[in-house]
Amino acid sequence: MKANKKNWYDYFWIWVILYFALGFFNILFAWLGMIDFLLPLLVAVFGGNKWFCNNLCGRGQLFSLLGGKLGWSHGKPTPTFLISPWFRYGFLIFFLIMFGNVLLQTYLVFAGARSLKQAVSLAWAVHLPWDWAYTAGQVPDWAAQFSFGLYGIMLFSLLLGLLAMVLHKPRSWCVFCPMGTMTQGICKLKNKAEK
Ligand code: SF4
Repeated sequence: MKANKKNWYDYFWIWVILYFALGFFNILFAWLGMIDFLLPLLVAVFGGNKWFCNNLCGRGQLFSLLGGKLGWSHGKPTPTFLISPWFRYGFLIFFLIMFGNVLLQTYLVFAGARSLKQAVSLAWAVHLPWDWAYTAGQVPDWAAQFSFGLYGIMLFSLLLGLLAMVLHKPRSWCVFCPMGTMTQGICKLKNKAEK
């Protein structure tokens, strides 16, 4: 039987591993996470479809690979409450508040109202010291603060996604992923407007 032909973008899961590895050694690489924020939105706005989720998302690919091919997933059905709109939109709001807080902390450092905190926070609950990953003075303090904040959001969401993958189907994270919820909303609005 002929094997499925792979596309170049089927290997974006490597990017996810690389991103966290780079940020472990130098937190400034966390800025690259903005690509993961902006690209899905741009594809949805201009394409009006979920092409990013279906083809380009390294995180989704990684969950498929670990949970599917490597068998790390129990494969249980995704709980229905995770699929419900109230949970998906509620989680999106929670995610946006976290991102808003990163922007606020960045601004406070920029304005000199507080000093740079060299730690990675997971949803305000866990604060991981991360001071080896940045040498003071490399960039303005606010730019470093944004890196720590963004890396925290990326790491927190990855851990949640891995947990969902292990407990349920490999891509259970995708049903309540904030980026997925936002892109779906954009596509719906765009398609409605075109009709
Ligand atoms: S829902 Fe989120 S994690 Fe899943 S493919 Fe889309 S952007 Fe990636």
